[in-house]
Amino acid sequence: MEIKIAKSAGFCWGVKRAVNMAVEAVEKGRGRALCLGELIHNRREIERLKKLGMSFIDDMESVREGDTVVIRSHGVAPQVVEFLRRKGAGIVDATCPFVKDVQEKALKLQKGGYPVLILGNPKHPEVIGIAGHVRNPMIINTLKELEELPKMAKLGVVCQTTLNLNFFREAIAILSLKVKELKVYNTICSATSIRQKEARELAEKVDVMLVVGGKNSSNTTKLYQIAKSVNAKSFHIESKEEIEREWFEGARTVGITAGASTPQWVIEEIVKEVREISQGGNRSGRGVCETAGREL
Ligand code: SF4
Repeated sequence: MEIKIAKSAGFCWGVKRAVNMAVEAVEKGRGRALCLGELIHNRREIERLKKLGMSFIDDMESVREGDTVVIRSHGVAPQVVEFLRRKGAGIVDATCPFVKDVQEKALKLQKGGYPVLILGNPKHPEVIGIAGHVRNPMIINTLKELEELPKMAKLGVVCQTTLNLNFFREAIAILSLKVKELKVYNTICSATSIRQKEARELAEKVDVMLVVGGKNSSNTTKLYQIAKSVNAKSFHIESKEEIEREWFEGARTVGITAGASTPQWVIEEIVKEVREISQGGNRSGRGVCETAGREL
């Protein structure tokens, strides 16, 4: 089997930066190194960071004076930072600069007199953090809810950085018929749209498509949904243990992509496993597997 790996599979720039900052906080920070929530939506990378000495907390009350608290790439509401400062904790702000930009744009819209609408998942930490920067924003993630909105004089829109581009297009088409003065910032991160485009193109070409990343990772799940929409033999996996040999029966090409929160070492593990399956199925015993698209 030939293995083709999507060019941008794995950590995006913002996640790589956050992980590096977290590791530095463990090594050089004062007191305990804590991260508010999961640093990234990848169970296996979280386990690795725990082994290095990072603790993950959900309850800010447990923070003590002298602790070092890492704010993850999703960002938080300003009230959270204030609370931690009052507690006397040191703060390592690993909010992705692109997410910071969405927060600032939402605030700018509000200051300009626009009611703010955030397109995204209301339960996602990034959206919760953006929402915390403005007063009473609307948060919507279905076309049905958008259809039900009343006519409005003014509206300002930003979106979750990992929003599906097609959803964004349809949402704006609906809003443009409802709102007299509509101001829209397309805040989808290009890391997301590039990964989505590559996932679609690769899934269309190969016999079997593997999408690697946390089941709780929204960007990985979106990559999987896109792949599945064009290739029925698409599978979302977190680790090599989930791979089933039957998936590859009769397959000549396998595509692999990974979410922006999937570390390189996990991708390498998957490639190695598929390569072994491929070689095991070759009676001559010779490997017939090639890596295309990018170097590992
Ligand atoms: S996907 Fe984009 S916005 Fe999100 S962390 Fe990565 S670089 Fe930042």
